[in-house]
Amino acid sequence: MHNKTITELAKSLRTKEISSVELTQHYLTRIKQYSELNSYISVTERQALAAAKIADEQLQKTDAPLLTGIPIAQKDIFCTEGIKTSCGSKMLDNFIAPYNATVVEKFNQSGAVMLGKLNMDEFAMGSSNETSFYGTVKNPWDNNTVAGGSSGGSAAAVAARLAVATTGTDTGGSIRQPASFCGITGLKPTYGRVSRYGMIAYASSLDQGGVMTRSAEDAAILLQTMAGFDEKDSTSAQEVVPNYSENINQSLKGLKIGLPKEFFSEDLEADIAATILNAVEEYKKLGAEVKEVSMPMLKYAIPAYYVIASAECSANLSRLDGVRYGHRCENPKNLDDLYTRSRGEAFGAEVKRRILMGTYALSAGYYDAYYIKAQKIRRLISEDFKRTLTEVDVLMGPVAPSTAFGIGEKTNDPIQMYLADIYTIAINLAGLPAMSVPAGFVENKPVGLQIIGNYFKEAQLLNVANQYQKVTDWHKKTPEGF
Ligand code: GLN
Repeated sequence: MHNKTITELAKSLRTKEISSVELTQHYLTRIKQYSELNSYISVTERQALAAAKIADEQLQKTDAPLLTGIPIAQKDIFCTEGIKTSCGSKMLDNFIAPYNATVVEKFNQSGAVMLGKLNMDEFAMGSSNETSFYGTVKNPWDNNTVAGGSSGGSAAAVAARLAVATTGTDTGGSIRQPASFCGITGLKPTYGRVSRYGMIAYASSLDQGGVMTRSAEDAAILLQTMAGFDEKDSTSAQEVVPNYSENINQSLKGLKIGLPKEFFSEDLEADIAATILNAVEEYKKLGAEVKEVSMPMLKYAIPAYYVIASAECSANLSRLDGVRYGHRCENPKNLDDLYTRSRGEAFGAEVKRRILMGTYALSAGYYDAYYIKAQKIRRLISEDFKRTLTEVDVLMGPVAPSTAFGIGEKTNDPIQMYLADIYTIAINLAGLPAMSVPAGFVENKPVGLQIIGNYFKEAQLLNVANQYQKVTDWHKKTPEGF
């Protein structure tokens, strides 16, 4: 049952081959069975079974939405009314959200059943899910390696079949990199495509919610549910949302693919480069034309990103001061003591590091030298992409310079960890949509192909991914034992 696509499951629910309650129970049992992966922070068993029961009633009607009764799970960054929303932090370990994020609301309205909340790096800061207050997520392909981050729980849960599909968020690669490490399909939409309302902010100008699924076909269904203008989010885009599932069967004849030469430098492991180029060969067989392109500004993406993201997070996280909600220290002596100890006790090392870097970059005297300069670089990077995307339709390259690395391997060296984001963060700086699609294995570890599209061209991206998945079966591989 847990290897079926969403469309197949929707059919099984309608022909009564299985009920939503049975399907939900099946996943809840699996979540317990594979709890050592640590992919969930909270499992909402009682609520899930109640929602499944309602879904079964809805399924009697002919117009029940496609996702009715399908068990999914949310990254623990999305606020869920009456349910703990921790964002992977001790700071919010006691936080019960008083309202639903728009994304959560949309899934509820679509009849999907939420199984629980997924593990993630603390406040989405990290590339390995090792900064979570709730511990590291293990990669189902190899328990000694990380699942990637920050949406590590979301990726591991899909790979291990502990949810049909999950949500993630991507500020600098947090959907695509864990998708690549866990051998699943991940889509980070254009900035503004999916509402950020109720999605706890890390770096507001970069954060974007998206989907983590087993295939492009499933991703199209999920994105349909999530996308669209939201008046509660001032950066939400007014663009029309096309029918994604209807658009994923177009021929790729004449599709122009650009390979940025900066993506294939010596930083990239040779086996990964070969895997990516094999996938590109497959696209040539499908009728695509391939050419090399160059985006010289990409080399400044990591420093620019870490200045901007840290600056924004230092402002966003200032609301967590022990006064209104979140962790509060015992017996504060005065207001200063309350702030300092509450924050000092509840934030982990990586979050503190970012707040310090961000505060420094924003301080008088350094603001122009760091923050303004980083913003200028950001503009130049966007222009590189815009220019290149007038020459080609999509860009392709690796998602990460390596496959899933060992647990603990990079925790003592933050710079090494930041470098793992080298191929993903520029896309967030430009606000473009991009996907990670399973494209092979290196030493039994999954490798993702990154496909980057033009603004609001998610439909094209999904089609490009789906055509590949029709002629390959990398996305169908399951880790052993699951
Ligand atoms: N690894 C990057 C960071 O730590 C990206 C994280 C993300 O996309 N949320 O900032």
